[in-house]
Amino acid sequence: MPHSSIRQGYATLPPRFYARTQPTPVATPRLIALNRPLAAELGLDVGWLAGPQGLAMLAGNQVPQGMDPLATVYAGHQFGHFSPQLGDGRALLLGDVTDQHGQVHEIQLKGSGPTPYSRSGDGRAALGPVLREYLLSESMAALGIATTRALAAVETGERVYRETPLPGAIVARVARSHIRVGTFQFFAAGQDEAALRALADFAIARLYPQAAVAEQPYVALLQGVVAAQAALVARWMLVGFIHGVMNTDNMAISGETIDYGPCAFMDTYNPATVFSFIDKRGRYAYTNQPTIALWNLTRLAEALLPLLAEEDDQAIAIAQQVLAEFHPHFHTTYFAGMRAKLGLVGEDDADEALFKSLLDQMEAEKLDMTNTFRALSHAGVVRGDVPPTGLPASFGPWLAQWRARVVQQGGADHVARAHAMQQVNPCYIPRNHKVEAMIQAAIKRQDYALFEEMLRVLATPYVEQPDMEDYATPPQPDEVVPYTYCGT
Ligand code: AMP
Ligand code: MG
Ligand code: MG
Repeated sequence: MPHSSIRQGYATLPPRFYARTQPTPVATPRLIALNRPLAAELGLDVGWLAGPQGLAMLAGNQVPQGMDPLATVYAGHQFGHFSPQLGDGRALLLGDVTDQHGQVHEIQLKGSGPTPYSRSGDGRAALGPVLREYLLSESMAALGIATTRALAAVETGERVYRETPLPGAIVARVARSHIRVGTFQFFAAGQDEAALRALADFAIARLYPQAAVAEQPYVALLQGVVAAQAALVARWMLVGFIHGVMNTDNMAISGETIDYGPCAFMDTYNPATVFSFIDKRGRYAYTNQPTIALWNLTRLAEALLPLLAEEDDQAIAIAQQVLAEFHPHFHTTYFAGMRAKLGLVGEDDADEALFKSLLDQMEAEKLDMTNTFRALSHAGVVRGDVPPTGLPASFGPWLAQWRARVVQQGGADHVARAHAMQQVNPCYIPRNHKVEAMIQAAIKRQDYALFEEMLRVLATPYVEQPDMEDYATPPQPDEVVPYTYCGT
């Protein structure tokens, strides 16, 4: 039985960290997708999961004996405003599994019914957002970006009522930890230092074990989270990912991308891009993501102050120093990523200007971000024999500069350079118009063929796949889907 290996680590924390809650059974569960490779990696019994008992667990219809589901409590800044009382309103932590490498992961059901933290919500999830989360989180994983994973998706056979009745669904997701910046904020707001300490110690043991042996473990914890988030957001920027709702309760301290609500990838390069319908002022626009990440980490540092003060009587100054490491960390990952995308070896003082002029020109010419980098990644283009397809003639001066930089770094093996670029410039991203078409087919016709095809194509995003170029084609003007709606 797979569940015999599922334990509940979070339940070792004091009772005020969570509410023990049973999932609410659903009418007629049906498996939409089971992530077999992930299940196998996690050491779960794939056959059992794919069978009736596995389905009953994934739907919340049956809680295997010994499993101890709970909803965790947290707070959070939502669009800059502090909500002291949030929590898993429609999610339940089933427990932990240990993978083949000894790494612990949590399994959570999302959409499994009300909890004490549901407020006015129904505790349920609609099919569309479940499919978006499944597809985008698996796509991010395939792109090599830290993220929660999707283990399974289940139709409930029930309707959820949003603006209109919609089919309901549940996603089972996996994370190294679901602890958020907002979890720390909850206990800091309650001036519950004992809880803060317990949470920090738990996070260190689970996620940042090297901090335990540091001279100042809580300072080291903050350093670890700052570094992890800086690297994460840099990787988002390199692929054009827009999270959409970077509230502090949606930022995991593990450095995994979490909470796939109104997120999307941009097609045309435009730093001001916002997809989320509710983000009217563009707080979470593409270009603001590093700034917002640092803002959120500053809230984490504030929450940790009582613990930092135990380690250092200059706690505020120390926190400020650690936060000041965000930008250097961000730039290290971002510039290394840009160099790799452009096939550049070594560092040159002029590189940043080269990146900026490329991005400025992409913006001015309204070019597709993914396809621009892909067009640059062909050997003939790197060598200078052929112009990149899809790039306007006005790119000539920039191409000349880039090639001069490539020549200057030495190494005439343009084929190898192009090959290396193809390993980091994806051919396929989950383009929003394709995601929407996939969702509509599932909702209106119960047709999951597009979902399955997209999942397959996006599983190897760096590999050109014959007959799949439709997934590399930007939307026609009338196909553009400019908005996403919060994942409710
Ligand atoms: P989100 O914007 O998705 O991060 O959600 C913010 C808060 O609202 C979290 O505490 C969620 O658990 C809660 N929430 C979102 N949707 C629902 C729902 N349908 N029922 C209950 N709680 C919800
Ligand atoms: Mg959330
Ligand atoms: Mg959400």
